[in-house]
Parts: sequence; C-alpha cells; structure tokens
Amino acid sequence: MERTVETISGDTPGIEHRFSVLRFRGASADAPTAYLQAALHGNELPGVAALHYLIPMVEAAERDGRLLGAVTVVPYANPIGSAQHHFGEHMGRFSLGSRVNFNRDFPLLPRPDPSLLPGDDAPVFAEKRLKARLVALSLGHDLVLDLHCDDEALPYIYAPRQVWPGMQDLAAALGCEAVIIWDETSDGAFEEAAIAPYLGLSPEEARWERRAISTVELRGRRDVSPELGQRDAAGLYRFLVGRGVIRDAAVDGPARFEGPAVPLDHVEMAYAPAGGAILYHVEPGDRVRAGDPLASILTAPGEAGGAVIVTAPQDGLILTRRAHRLTRAGDDLLKLLGTKRSATAKSGALED
Ligand SMILES: [Zn+2]
Repeated sequence: MERTVETISGDTPGIEHRFSVLRFRGASADAPTAYLQAALHGNELPGVAALHYLIPMVEAAERDGRLLGAVTVVPYANPIGSAQHHFGEHMGRFSLGSRVNFNRDFPLLPRPDPSLLPGDDAPVFAEKRLKARLVALSLGHDLVLDLHCDDEALPYIYAPRQVWPGMQDLAAALGCEAVIIWDETSDGAFEEAAIAPYLGLSPEEARWERRAISTVELRGRRDVSPELGQRDAAGLYRFLVGRGVIRDAAVDGPARFEGPAVPLDHVEMAYAPAGGAILYHVEPGDRVRAGDPLASILTAPGEAGGAVIVTAPQDGLILTRRAHRLTRAGDDLLKLLGTKRSATAKSGALED
C-alpha cells in the first residue's frame, strides 16, 4: 500500500486542504481496477466506516499476491466540507462559500483525458479544483464507487442506465433494497463525471460490461457502527472478488439482486405543504398504498385543523425520510419508490 497526501490550495492566503489517497498495486495488468471514495458530503460516514474495515482486507490481499487489479481509496474525499462547522452544527452538503452542492458541478469530460481538467493553479474556487482532482484520481478505473448515505434510509444505489443490469452484483453484494436507474443528468454529480468520459466512445472502447459506476447510499447518517461498517466492508469485498479485482476462493460468487430497480422518474419526492413539526407515520422499508398518510405537519398543535396530513401519491416503498423534525414549507419529507412514473417527475437530480 502506498499512501500519499493530495494538497488543494485554499481560496485565500495561508489556507490549504489535504486528503489521503491509498493505492494498492494489482498483480495483473488485465484485471479490473477499482476506485472508492467516501464522505464527499462531509458528514456522511457509513462509507468511511466501511472503508475502515475494507482497507486492511485489500492490504492483506495485496500482501498475499491475491490483489489482481489496482485499487485506489480516498476515505475522506472532501476536506473542505468536512471542516464546515457552523455554530456547532456540521454542514457538509453545500459549500458555504459558493452555495453549490459538493456533489454537483463536477467537470464532465468528453473523453478520459485528465489533461482536460483544471489544474490546482486554475483561477477557480478550491472546491472546483478539489472536484477536478477527484475526477483525475478516479479516471481509468473500471469500478468507481462514491460512498454516500441519505438522512434515514434503506441501503440503495444509483445506477447509470449504461451499467444496468450489469451492476446487479453490486446491489446484491451490498444487500441493497432498491436501485434507482438514471440516464439523463444528475446535475454533474461525481457519478456523472465518472461516466461522462466514456459516453462518446464506441461500446468496444467503453466496455460497459466491465464497468461499475455508482453513487452508493449506505442507509442513513446515523447508521455508523462497527457492525454496519464490517457488513458493508464485507459487501464491497465480495463485489471486488466477484469482479476479479481480488482473488479469494473463500468468498461466494455474486448473488442475484431481487429488489426493485426503478427509473429515477418513479421516485416520488414528498414535500411539506406547510412548516412545523413532522410526525412521520412511516419509516424506510414500509410499503404504502396510494392515499396512505405519510406524515403530519403540526402547524397549530392541538387545534382543529392544526395538522396537515401528507399522503402517498401512489403505491410504493418508503426509501428514505429526513433526519430533522422541523420542516419548512416546500422542503423534502421523504422518497417513495413508486411503481409508475411520478406525476411531478422533473429532470436532473432528485434533490438540490
Ligand atoms: Zn451524499
């Protein structure tokens, strides 16, 4: 294992941002290679916990000559976002300097050529140069996994259309309960930057059957524990073995993914019609019918008509809900995985 430290110069004199990159050398030039990063939204840590247990497993494979493909790991991918504490609360989704989501606005390259990316001397904000650096680190790897989590959620993954159903092995290995397939734009999420350079290539050059590119949502923000970290590390390891990155005869081959895999426009985003306390009537994993109550928003507690009830627009599976309990009018409440297109579907990412 080789450990290096990447440096991104800050936006003002005296500031710089650093993050570690771990590289493991593969024994076979033909084997698929893998890139994994976590905590792009600074406080989404189930992926960090998973990598904590996965890294020694990959290291052991490298030591024993069982690591066939090169593996690159960035356990804390966003030193800028990780440092954003605001009056005691962490805020890792949006850059405080630019208001841009740290998982949007990645550079979308027309071909896999890192020389097209802005360098660290480019006159753009540090977060843009960080994004370019992460794309540069991931370029050339066959398997690119960006480990995130939702607020409160089942484990699920996003899959670009080009690698589905080929990526069922990832969903099965991680015990995912759902897959969301997208094929337009994710507003420049890292995942889109990972697939964009290959979209213009011929199928023979793009080699979709060999690729996996995914935003992996490892449950919710509080689902960080030794048990879950070990379980997710075992799932990632199983996936890497199944893809031939690691040789390990003791690990079973990939299982079949049995859960729902639905297009992005089947996801119903439930919004709060008013501000107030949220009383959820459902939790991730619940199945609902159209018209079932999802949440009550307490606008005038105890008074007649003082609770606004939000109902399910169609039958489906509750995939996520928010971690906070004070909502503003118009804010997201939950994601419901429907069985048909949402009447309110829009293009682009589900959330800001
Ligand atoms: Zn995230």
